Amino acid sequence: MRKPLIVGNWKMNTTISEGVELVKSVIDSGVDQLSVDFGFAPPFISIYEIKKYLNDSHILAGQNMYFEDSGAYTGEISADMLLGAGCNYVILGHSERRHIFGETDEVINKKVLHALKKGLNVILCVGELLEEREAGCEVETVLRQVGLGLKSVEKGLINNVVIAYEPVWAIGTGKTASKDDAEKMHMEIRKYIAKLYDDDVAQRIRIMYGGSVKPENIKELMSSPEIDGALVGGASLKAESFIKILKYYE
Ligand code: 13P
Repeated sequence: MRKPLIVGNWKMNTTISEGVELVKSVIDSGVDQLSVDFGFAPPFISIYEIKKYLNDSHILAGQNMYFEDSGAYTGEISADMLLGAGCNYVILGHSERRHIFGETDEVINKKVLHALKKGLNVILCVGELLEEREAGCEVETVLRQVGLGLKSVEKGLINNVVIAYEPVWAIGTGKTASKDDAEKMHMEIRKYIAKLYDDDVAQRIRIMYGGSVKPENIKELMSSPEIDGALVGGASLKAESFIKILKYYE
């Protein structure tokens, strides 16, 4: 069975002290007792401080990373820096990286390969634009992103990858994909993973959903056996709503 995974992606929100308060409130609410893997993807600058309030069972993720070890790459962060600050995960290929910052599948693939080589777990984000869904090519778009993102990832490392399906039209818009829409896409992704690797890998890989996840819809989404977790943006910025999401089955 795949263990559920819920991660708050704070994007460019929270100062260091706000982030620490948020994490403390979430942890103090007793969520460690739940049978859910959970954690946070804070802005880079807060990671080191936030790690002090977490243990190794928590997920602490960078929101991005560069694929070189070090050098003249002003403004970038390396895998070693994330590891050194206490991260065990990195989010790669988020739609905001793709569409605002112009990251291509090729660049994302280099980052995936590098992160895995360095020992970070990867949350690889994929998702179609509204135009792509309206044109009926959402499955093709998403599978292309999965295939190119995972290019050359060996079977021995695929266990360290989680896929996050985040339809772009559902991010920050209040519009959630229906459980059926998400489920259908997750099944397509899983089938494709079986083709790229094998059935065993496909059954083990966790596929999370992201896009306007909130306390009101988490239970319904998680009731699908295909949906293994959630990548939560806006609703992870308030302790109260993130805690409710983590306790989705109550
Ligand atoms: P929202 O939950 O704010 O829609 O953001 C989703 C997301 O992009 C998480 O990575």
